[in-house]
Amino acid sequence: MIIYHSKFLSQLQPLHHPESPLRLKAVVKGLEELNLFNNIHKPSKASIEELTTTHSLEHINFIKNFGEGYLSPDTYLNNDTFETAAYAAGGAIHAAKLAYEKLKPSFALLRPPGHHAAFDTGGGFCYFNNIAVSANCLLDRADRIAILDIDGHHGNGTQDIFSNSNKVLYISTHQWGIYPGTGLAEYVGERKGRGYTVNIPFISGCGDSSYNLAFNEIIEPILIQFKPKIILVSVGVDAHYKDPMTSLLLSSPGYFSLLEKIMNLARTLCNRRISFMLEGGYHLPSLSEVIAAVIASFEGKEVGLQFVTEYDTNFKGKAIVEKVKTAQRSYWEL
Ligand SMILES: [Zn+2]
Repeated sequence: MIIYHSKFLSQLQPLHHPESPLRLKAVVKGLEELNLFNNIHKPSKASIEELTTTHSLEHINFIKNFGEGYLSPDTYLNNDTFETAAYAAGGAIHAAKLAYEKLKPSFALLRPPGHHAAFDTGGGFCYFNNIAVSANCLLDRADRIAILDIDGHHGNGTQDIFSNSNKVLYISTHQWGIYPGTGLAEYVGERKGRGYTVNIPFISGCGDSSYNLAFNEIIEPILIQFKPKIILVSVGVDAHYKDPMTSLLLSSPGYFSLLEKIMNLARTLCNRRISFMLEGGYHLPSLSEVIAAVIASFEGKEVGLQFVTEYDTNFKGKAIVEKVKTAQRSYWEL
């Protein structure tokens, strides 16, 4: 199941900005060429009630009424922004509900991305936190939701929104030391949310073997113990070795194998209730082939991949994985 709306193609940032409609056009073209752009669900716009599950009314009205100008040095607002961002949040809600009801994976091909948007702020090309809105709108039915964020950047907005919650588990792999500067291994959440934030801050050069280690030693055991009713995945393909925004080195097969393992876990833990939501990814061919591989696998198909070099075969992130395990051992058996 693919969730997509032509609204997502709006030009939100100035020309030549990396977060451009060309990203989604490349993804759709790649899917069409492989005859995988089928079973398209068109979402409606998130309502103000849905957005206020996650954001302050002041923030929503700010995005709605600001007009044109910079929200932050890298994030622009124009007259289309509110409408497009509300459709993206609506797409996330639709994707999560479909996966929950139909017991099948869904993929929301969203723009703009969302994981840097918090209760009262946007930034990092994000306005509303799509995945957080979708989780909050599903909490009345699914009282334990896992959000996995494999974008190359830390989802500071998602972490903030759920830092006090023991109903939404947030696990992020990201590069340490780049935008937005958050996501320390030692940060585990607040009050009753302690242990429900799991940050895996990789250093430059981490790729396939380090991600695999993090999956085996942290992500899988915590998910098994948490027993989610649904898994939501923030998919950013900017941890890819071809991506210009980070210096993480996942290959396309490395990405696919990680996402496939998460899908397999969703099968055993929550009846195949899993929804993928697009975040970043700025090298169009790698973005496009990783997403195609995931969507093909929904139908039991495989696609050929071209970016297959494994740069990290020797567990470059082993010390970080150990550090995260130490930080999380008070909450989980690791
Ligand atoms: Zn990113």
